[in-house]
Amino acid sequence: MKPRGLTLLQALSRGLRLHCPRCGEGRLFAGWNRLFEVCPVCGLDFERRLGDTWFFMYMSTAGLSGVLVVAMFLIHPRVVWIGQVLVCLAAVAVIGLSLPYRKGIAVALDYWIEGDG
Ligand SMILES: [Zn+2]
Repeated sequence: MKPRGLTLLQALSRGLRLHCPRCGEGRLFAGWNRLFEVCPVCGLDFERRLGDTWFFMYMSTAGLSGVLVVAMFLIHPRVVWIGQVLVCLAAVAVIGLSLPYRKGIAVALDYWIEGDG
């Protein structure tokens, strides 16, 4: 059942801030990227939602990888190995460091669509 009174923007904002999409108070992660099983404040089951977030995680990773590939076609460094190092650093920065934020968005979207049911 869809949550009442929760707009998509509110849910996404809570997810981006790495907080529970239902109460907005509890944190999603213990540490950098280890999802709590349930919200420490309202008890929303995050673990149950993990499988529902895979599609968003795969597609956002593919999209970010696509951006890097397009950048590799458009940018021609004078020294190739420097370009290769920059691509690796950009991949870690863009894909790796955005991981908890993308997962927060995915959990929020799932909660907004599915609700508590
Ligand atoms: Zn909560």
